[in-house]
Amino acid sequence: MNNTRRDFIRIVPAAGAGLLIGQAAFAQAMVDEKDPQAASLAYVADNSKVNKTKYPKFTADQICGNCQLYQAKAGAAAGPCALFPGKLVAVKGWCSAYVKKP
Ligand code: SF4
Repeated sequence: MNNTRRDFIRIVPAAGAGLLIGQAAFAQAMVDEKDPQAASLAYVADNSKVNKTKYPKFTADQICGNCQLYQAKAGAAAGPCALFPGKLVAVKGWCSAYVKKP
């Protein structure tokens, strides 16, 4: 009986710490469209909002998800981009540095 209680007291804080560490690892921030670097590249989290007058070569099939600089696994809603270290871009996002994956 004492062992069970001792184990409980030992395990609960460890599990809580593990959860916090896990949340921190997954709480990577999304790129903000208003961030100066994002704004300079005309990044949008939704490619339907691309300014087609300013970027006439943009086509609707261009999304971060099929850009050469996108580094997430297939099926992810967001992932890292080489241009925005430490942040995530939306799979359906776009910026003027888009390069189609070969
Ligand atoms: Fe998206 Fe590619 Fe621009 Fe990165 S470089 S934000 S992956 S379009």
